[in-house]
Amino acid sequence: MRGAVLYAPGDIRVDDRDDPTIVEPTDAVIRMAATCVCGSDLWPYRGIEEVNGPSPMGHEYVGVIEEVGSEVRNVKPGQFVVGSFFASDNTCEICRAGYQTSCVQRQPGAATGAQAQYCRIPLADGTLVATPDIPPADLVPSLLAASDVLGTGWFGAVAAEVGPGRTVAVVGDGAVGLLGVLAAKQLGAERIIAMSRHESRQKLALEFGATDIVTERGDDGVAKIKDLTDGLGAHSVIEAVGTQESMMQAIRSTRPGGHVGYVGVSHDVELPGQELFFSHVHLHGGPAPVRRFLPDLIDLIWNRTIDPGKVFDLTLPLDQAAEGYKAMDERRAIKTLLQP
Ligand SMILES: [Zn+2]
Repeated sequence: MRGAVLYAPGDIRVDDRDDPTIVEPTDAVIRMAATCVCGSDLWPYRGIEEVNGPSPMGHEYVGVIEEVGSEVRNVKPGQFVVGSFFASDNTCEICRAGYQTSCVQRQPGAATGAQAQYCRIPLADGTLVATPDIPPADLVPSLLAASDVLGTGWFGAVAAEVGPGRTVAVVGDGAVGLLGVLAAKQLGAERIIAMSRHESRQKLALEFGATDIVTERGDDGVAKIKDLTDGLGAHSVIEAVGTQESMMQAIRSTRPGGHVGYVGVSHDVELPGQELFFSHVHLHGGPAPVRRFLPDLIDLIWNRTIDPGKVFDLTLPLDQAAEGYKAMDERRAIKTLLQP
């Protein structure tokens, strides 16, 4: 099969690789219908995360099951499935509490790399959710978005306690931030302030339900949020970047008693204890338990209530993965869909 491999920062190639096979009796092998490049793939691509030798890439996937191991009961060959970036049994105490990304059996969801024609998925019964039928082609991008960025934006909104009557601010205008806006809208937020300096992203934020756009960032951005909220700050802030600046921007944009949902993968963030102490802000986040939300998100996509697939503004054949990474790295694309 063909699959994307990162050799060194900036050096992504699509190689001939071995077809994945069933290793554990709880595995499935899926034939990829679509896959994509994640904002978090850019950390090793940019050399901010270490690259330890050639690494198969990709953790977002939708596809059709080719084969299952002997102990798989809930899904079967021929079904179209959506999974997420961590595999989980969905039965342990942590999973049942809704934190499948901290499952006691947690392991990478796309064991052999999702930016490929086929992929081995561990713990298939707990990890994969089948759609009601083989989806029409125009729903595939949205189902793919559910695999990570939609589920992550959704968790950000839930962790930030978004709800009716709430004012929500979203820090970060990547795919996760934009889908955090969509989630906030669906969860009934009254006002949604998207923080973005890029016109195409502002436009999508407004389409997804943003009511205000703030172009300032850092302390200026915080001041703008305060201006818009009678000096109080937002009730709920979704942090979807993962840097020191974005995290402090999120905390300082939140009113006392309010909530930050942080879902940007944290890189070198250090929180000042005393400021946190006096802020009276709740912090919750981490790797989104996408599996918790998948059945509902698939429903919303299937009945065409939401169209999160709009975040894919570049579609390329898998063999052009290198250009897909480059376009996202240079912020020419919000998110690249790869056709295997
Ligand atoms: Zn579990």
